[in-house]
Amino acid sequence: MEKDLNAPIQYIKGVGPHRASLLGRIGINNVRDALFCLPYRYEDRRVFKKIAFLRPDELVTVSGKILKSDVISINPRLKILEVIISDGSALLKAKWFNQPYLKKNLRPGLDVIFYGQIKAGFRGVGLELQNPDYELVAEDDGDGGVPAMHTGRIVPIYHSTEGLSQRQFRTIMHSIVGQYSAAVRDFLPAEIVSRYNFPNITESLMNVHFPDSAVPIEDLNRGVTNYHRRLAFDELFTLQLGLALIKRDEASEKGVSFEPDGRLVSRLVDKLPYELTGAQQRVVKEILSDMRSSSPMHRLLQGDVGSGKTIVALISMLSAVECGYQAAIMAPTEILAEQHYLNIHRLVEELGLRIHLLTGSRKNKEYEAIASGDTDIVVGTHALIQESVVFAKLGLIVIDEQHRFGVMQRACLRKKGLNPDTLIMTATPIPRTLALTLYGDLDYSVIDELPPDRTPIITKLLYEDGKERIYRMLDDEVKRGGQAYVVYPVIEDSEKTNLKAAITGAEALQKMFPETVVGLIHGRMKTVEREDIMRRFKEGRINVLVSTTVIEVGVDVPNATLMVIIHAERFGLSQLHQLRGRVGRGGGQSFCILLCYGYGEDSKRRLDVMVKTSDGFRIAEEDLDIRGPGEFFGTKQSGIPDLKVANLLRDGVLLEPARKEAFALIESDPELVRFPGLKSSIEGFWGSKIGLFKTA
Ligand code: ADP
Ligand code: MG
Repeated sequence: MEKDLNAPIQYIKGVGPHRASLLGRIGINNVRDALFCLPYRYEDRRVFKKIAFLRPDELVTVSGKILKSDVISINPRLKILEVIISDGSALLKAKWFNQPYLKKNLRPGLDVIFYGQIKAGFRGVGLELQNPDYELVAEDDGDGGVPAMHTGRIVPIYHSTEGLSQRQFRTIMHSIVGQYSAAVRDFLPAEIVSRYNFPNITESLMNVHFPDSAVPIEDLNRGVTNYHRRLAFDELFTLQLGLALIKRDEASEKGVSFEPDGRLVSRLVDKLPYELTGAQQRVVKEILSDMRSSSPMHRLLQGDVGSGKTIVALISMLSAVECGYQAAIMAPTEILAEQHYLNIHRLVEELGLRIHLLTGSRKNKEYEAIASGDTDIVVGTHALIQESVVFAKLGLIVIDEQHRFGVMQRACLRKKGLNPDTLIMTATPIPRTLALTLYGDLDYSVIDELPPDRTPIITKLLYEDGKERIYRMLDDEVKRGGQAYVVYPVIEDSEKTNLKAAITGAEALQKMFPETVVGLIHGRMKTVEREDIMRRFKEGRINVLVSTTVIEVGVDVPNATLMVIIHAERFGLSQLHQLRGRVGRGGGQSFCILLCYGYGEDSKRRLDVMVKTSDGFRIAEEDLDIRGPGEFFGTKQSGIPDLKVANLLRDGVLLEPARKEAFALIESDPELVRFPGLKSSIEGFWGSKIGLFKTA
């Protein structure tokens, strides 16, 4: 009889409704979920140690015969089960606190194996084990006995859930793996299995959960055995198959074939006070070639902070406008939308274009212009994707700082036009492995060259005793006619965190430098106030801007050449990099001062990276390494299904082959006629998300 991997976990022996609900909390609802919930580490409990040679603090496996087993009542709330075993070399006591019922399992005369940490006994007398993992050595019952599960082997350790001990969890897994791993069908095409020399799926599942003794424990713990790799490959392959299908689907859509004549773009470019860099020109070419094509553009544009993405976006938008279409750009915050609006407005106002700003705080009167076609370019925030916004003829959308938006929002904006071309921009450099996953359905352009005459920013790490130096730098900066940012982690003082805060910081600085105009901006201020402060800073009427991270993304004030980050140890690496990118935008020498009040290992690593490099890609790699892929700007909201087995850091090397194989397979067999099983595993992995992507 075929075993059903979708069988609810509740009906597995030893589970039942209560434990099923505990398991449900960690995402295990059926047998398949359990099979693909891998141990996060392993313990070597194969080697038995003689009791006579035990030392305190050692983690050991010992075996012996039970001589005595007694429950001792210390007081009404404390019952101790004491079990004494002998292995012929010496005696050892094991204790369990408040589990008197174990006495009926651990009876004198039985052979047992214990695993645990050796402790000094009561008042330092003798050695003992407390609450060790135990296993009875089964009598030979004719079929070779029960295989060891908790001791006497390499033992899996799982991320369990509250209310379920390792031992209970492991017992459930043991029974599931034993009963069901043979029922998992191998959907990976045989050519691929043999090309990469992969073990089969059943063998792989059995060995990642309850490894054979021959598997090196170091490889197990690093998750790089052939069995682990096989399972990770399967998952990445399924992910990439989905992306290949999405991409194929997108390419078959009919979009606008723009035929821009360049009349607006050439006037714009003539007016620019600078030449486009080689990288900008190349990227513009890539975008225009997409726009000319009849299938809709889905392109990711990556460029470090200050690499000049805005002008590239504007050239693309003008190209759409030249063809009689509307273009929209969506930014993640009001300040950024306003800045784009002001910049774009300034650049195109002589070209006779109509441009509108649409944010949460200003909208109604804009709706009509957008719907009637009385506007060419719309700059906005999320407000753009509200239902009430209707475009007359939307041909191109640009999404700035993509990682702030989810797939859903991208999809919503696209639906406002008829398959409009989409350009997605990000200043957060994405390591290649992650880009192939998160944006694997997109074409990819990168501005890998900064505009010339940019002097590298000097970054310094200072401690509390460096404060005087910072004050001097601020003073010099202002006297020179420059401007500075001082960024704090929190808005207000609080006893809970004890962190330096923006409001008090601003007051103190103002007192210290009465001649200087100190401004304050933070997320709790009204948008109009923030706008006003930002404008005054841009116009040079504020010298020192004290803020929280609201100024993080994209704000452009070339005259600001000093960035001071207070409590730099509290900020993430990408965040620090973004903040630093606020300076160094003009010609002069810029400085970034990281003021740090004590740190842990991770924050020390982040700060060191900041001092060492300003290469956004290196910083991103490090950030990915420190934070892990899940947290690295929230893969969760990206719309990509969660990876259960594969880890993009560890299994990065598998990603390219998985992608290559997946795209080749879809190319040769787009309907997967030869692999119906693969088709259902794609559906299982992607679920409804694949449909979502197709409209995105
Ligand atoms: P980002 O990629 O971070 O969005 P911006 O588009 O805001 O960067 O550009 C940063 C600054 O560089 C702006 O002041 C812009 O006018 C300027 N800039 C853009 N391209 C060039 C170039 N080719 N040469 C000189 N300056 C440039
Ligand atoms: Mg930008």
